[in-house]
Amino acid sequence: MIRLLSGGWRVSDKPKIWGNLLLDVIKAGKCTFCGGCIAACPWSVIGFEGELPKLVGPCYACEICWYTCPRTIYDSEAIEKAVFGRTRKEDEYIGIYRGLYSARSNIKEVLDYAQDGGIATTLLMYALDKDIIDSAVVSEIKEEIWRPWPSIALEAKEVIKAAGTKYTPSPVLIGVWDASDNYSKSEVGVVGTPCEVQTLRKIQHAYKASYKLGSKVKLVIGLFCMESFGYKDLTKFVDSKGIELKNVSKFNISKGKFMAFEGEREALKVPISEIKACARGSCHICGDFTCEHADISVGSVGSPSGWSTVIVRTDIGEAVFKGACEAGYIEYKSIEDVKPGLNPVLKLSKIKKEQAREHSSEGKQTE
Ligand SMILES: Cc1cc2nc3c(=O)[nH]c(=O)nc-3n(C[C@H](O)[C@H](O)[C@H](O)COP(=O)(O)OP(=O)(O)OC[C@H]3O[C@@H](n4cnc5c(N)ncnc54)[C@H](O)[C@@H]3O)c2cc1C
Repeated sequence: MIRLLSGGWRVSDKPKIWGNLLLDVIKAGKCTFCGGCIAACPWSVIGFEGELPKLVGPCYACEICWYTCPRTIYDSEAIEKAVFGRTRKEDEYIGIYRGLYSARSNIKEVLDYAQDGGIATTLLMYALDKDIIDSAVVSEIKEEIWRPWPSIALEAKEVIKAAGTKYTPSPVLIGVWDASDNYSKSEVGVVGTPCEVQTLRKIQHAYKASYKLGSKVKLVIGLFCMESFGYKDLTKFVDSKGIELKNVSKFNISKGKFMAFEGEREALKVPISEIKACARGSCHICGDFTCEHADISVGSVGSPSGWSTVIVRTDIGEAVFKGACEAGYIEYKSIEDVKPGLNPVLKLSKIKKEQAREHSSEGKQTE
């Protein structure tokens, strides 16, 4: 039985321990590999194997892992009240926001490495330069080619090496834990996909959570995301097309096509439907395209090539975006002044919500 607490938080009458997380989420194919359970476990008994969490010591039945996971209970309205002070209105289809822009970094080095307009990177650089945050959790390629892993940037220039999209999951919550526990940082900026942002909001606000960790998160930059792919599946797919992963300089998804570049050369361009089978199961039940609970959301859809679509949502989001524009880090236009503009963003948000509903019979959040 699930009970509703004041504030809109739902709790289970039965204990929800590691075994429940294993059955409800991991074995059910719903794990996002956000790293939340690993980072939040107060006993540090959750590790991982491949892209899945794994128990590596005795479970003390504290329930934190189950309540931290974005695929168990996600009380969207309660989170909205906590983050925005209110819930969304019916016409706020892409979530609550206060500004919509198309923007591009003014920093040449960022544009050389960025996926789109370099806005995610530049916002973090500005926030670090102005001491709004004391560290940034970004995802860079470390040991395995094209496998993202969270890293901590302490200075603006360190953010640049993580620029660019990696289309497989990065357990960014492990990065938040690292920033907090190993680097003793307490004002952390984080970039993540919608599932990762949901976990970040849960550790800040949910009924049962690692609030100590959550209290360290100051700025949340969300990425638009239709889906992410399993690392092994993506590498096999690329290999099946006769492309060597180590030669790929950039992956991109645009206008219904999945592309791989070798330097400037477009080495692969296939309809996105060809790679859909590599999408992680956890993505099928996610209805959030634009990272609706971030402070600022950034994506490519809606803006011309080389620019980013930016959704400014909260006080801190607005302070950082406006500050970065005023300080000359970023140039921007209203989304209404660019093509294609907001319509494709609304369309993809609708599609993702519908897909999530369709998968609801097998994919409904567990309670
Ligand atoms: C899995 C995935 C799917 C996406 N799908 C879409 C989509 O369907 N439509 C759309 O418009 N946009 C999508 N995006 C967002 C888009 O690819 C760009 O990341 C976004 O436009 C920001 O571009 P930028 O130039 O401002 O970012 P940059 O300045 O290049 O910075 C990118 C930031 O993203 C972080 N990052 C990279 N890969 C990951 C990852 N796997 N997990 C967490 N953080 C990561 C990096 O650390 C870096 O800080 C997706 C992103 C990801 C990670």
